[in-house]
Amino acid sequence: MRELRRVATGVWVATARIWSSSTVVVVDDDGAALVVDPGITPAELDGLAAAVAARGWHVVAGLSTHPHWDHVLWSRGLGDVPRLASPAAVAALADDVERGWAEASSAAPGHDRTLFAALTPLGRASRPGADVPLPPPAPGGCRVVVHRAHAPGHLALITRGVLVAGDMLSDQEVPLLDVGPGGDPARAPLDPLGDYRDGLDVLEQAVARYDVDVLVPGHGTVAVGTDMIAERFAADRAYLRALDDAVGTASHTVTDARLADPWVAGEHATQLGLLRARPPTPGG
Ligand SMILES: [Zn+2]
Repeated sequence: MRELRRVATGVWVATARIWSSSTVVVVDDDGAALVVDPGITPAELDGLAAAVAARGWHVVAGLSTHPHWDHVLWSRGLGDVPRLASPAAVAALADDVERGWAEASSAAPGHDRTLFAALTPLGRASRPGADVPLPPPAPGGCRVVVHRAHAPGHLALITRGVLVAGDMLSDQEVPLLDVGPGGDPARAPLDPLGDYRDGLDVLEQAVARYDVDVLVPGHGTVAVGTDMIAERFAADRAYLRALDDAVGTASHTVTDARLADPWVAGEHATQLGLLRARPPTPGG
């Protein structure tokens, strides 16, 4: 059973063994629970279901922050409930579900294929740039903001002073741009760097608008307090500036403590290569 840690009233976080992935459970006074990005391995998902049941909570909905395989898993033990995602995320998954399932089967074997990526799109108002409340049966007081950074239709949940950021604002990973499905440059967005900056803007505006003082990244450690949250934004903007400089200057080296991780360094090399192979974007 994974340990659930309380980060705010009604907001609990469990951390997975793989990639320090964060699962968030938002619980109303009556025990109705929203599960965000449930986790990675079948054992972890079953453990989460057991931990939720042991506390007397009942899952009423799921939420996937974005259409990468490790954020669209589910377990029968969590119940047959709507699992929400942005319309753009659902559309992106529909185009690429077999590749995602192959990745899931390789990294975390044993999941139920029929539950993989079985998502319900939020209303059409949930386009990139939107800030909308989550409809029932999700617990009250939950909003999502939608953007295009990292993956199509990426959303963040804001509730009870907490921002659940998905794969953004990590202390362990540099900003990972949307480099296209499977890193296919032909299917990458036109301006992934600009999309990422816009995504950070959307999140930073939401932090100010809703007095957020706890930030839960999809991978890494929770940031508590406005100073620590501001540092996460500053670190990611500094990385994006250095990346942009390195695109135009072959000799420019990006320095960022997070690049000490070999996997992160590899992702950095991939996105730098993609941006260098691109013609400049208009105005960029
Ligand atoms: Zn991701």
